[in-house]
Amino acid sequence: MPSVLLSIDYESWFALTRRFDEIPADQRRALDGGYALAALDPLLEQLAPARASFYLVGELVDWFPELPEKIAAAGHEVGFHCQVHRPLTRLSDIQRDLAASRGWRARSGVTGFRAPMVNTIEDVYPLLKTEGFRYSSSIYAPAGTLLNKNGIRELPVSTLPLLRRPQNLTAPRKMTLPLVLGGEFPYGSSFTIGLFEKTVLKILEQELKRGLSPVIFLHPYELVRPQDWPGRLRRDLFAHPGLIPFTRSKSRFLKTLLTNFPVSTLRDYLLTNRQPPTAN
Ligand SMILES: [Zn+2]
Repeated sequence: MPSVLLSIDYESWFALTRRFDEIPADQRRALDGGYALAALDPLLEQLAPARASFYLVGELVDWFPELPEKIAAAGHEVGFHCQVHRPLTRLSDIQRDLAASRGWRARSGVTGFRAPMVNTIEDVYPLLKTEGFRYSSSIYAPAGTLLNKNGIRELPVSTLPLLRRPQNLTAPRKMTLPLVLGGEFPYGSSFTIGLFEKTVLKILEQELKRGLSPVIFLHPYELVRPQDWPGRLRRDLFAHPGLIPFTRSKSRFLKTLLTNFPVSTLRDYLLTNRQPPTAN
């Protein structure tokens, strides 16, 4: 049965801005202030009894080692977002990031990868294969797309092609003006959900009717509000107004979604999907 493949990119509130990417880890932990742990229970409550894919930032697992187990115990999938949240588009950076996360990924049985900012490169796929991953969801492409890249299945975050289906599905395929001008509406992004909540719900309904299983993502801070939110990001929102849709609450959206549509993890979808992956 077609389902909405729901994912949570599980990162702290400051992952929205690039200002803290390079500061020492203990300073980022202080910025987090316990949010990443405190947000989990209320988030799991909003999701229950549906199951979602959680792509975790590994640094949060260093700080709160109970996170993966709590997520898995609630029936959700534990996947990997990156070890430290920042743009990861250089091979050497990706290699280091993957090496730093090996221990907890193995303990948590992680098989899925979501690149930070849904922005990656083709060279990531052989690396993912070596590191024991089974699949990735790290580009944007129309719902129904399932690619085989070096033995890794790529199940993209969903777009709606308004003109024609794109021919070239090579990474990176990130949220950019050219993507949108090329006629793709990236409704799987929480950015788009923050701007066009009702439209996205309507598209999800249409995609399911067509037998497709769309992939969408949300963030914890869109469902469980940090204190003084989004006030504490005032400076960043002023400099980058494009971040504002990410600070809007998506709790109502999630509730409507869970009330009206079947929802599944990406891993479960891939396990039950008998259709062989298409060649890239
Ligand atoms: Zn992220």
